[in-house]
Amino acid sequence: MKYFKTKCVKWPGYIDKAGYGKATVRGKSKSAHRLIWEILKGSIPPGLVIDHLCFNRACVNIRHMEVTTISKNSERGQVRVKKNIRQMAYNSLGRKQSDAFVP
Ligand SMILES: [Zn+2]
Repeated sequence: MKYFKTKCVKWPGYIDKAGYGKATVRGKSKSAHRLIWEILKGSIPPGLVIDHLCFNRACVNIRHMEVTTISKNSERGQVRVKKNIRQMAYNSLGRKQSDAFVP
């Protein structure tokens, strides 16, 4: 596996016991990576979650994140959806998937 072209960016604020960066927005606790995603890319559609490609939960580097479903569908269906959404995310950045992340 190749490494990312960009390094992980550790959330400078509070990190919870599960290892996720946390921010407080208007009195509500929010996952830092979701917050960063919403700021840079807009709101996350219901039923979708942000996955860390780098498996570093405290990381808030937008290039290390992808939108994925939490659906209990068959693994194959989930992978297909994941791929499409990932491609969409990269398209929205105006770059090819290979520019940012090589599995
Ligand atoms: Zn990362």
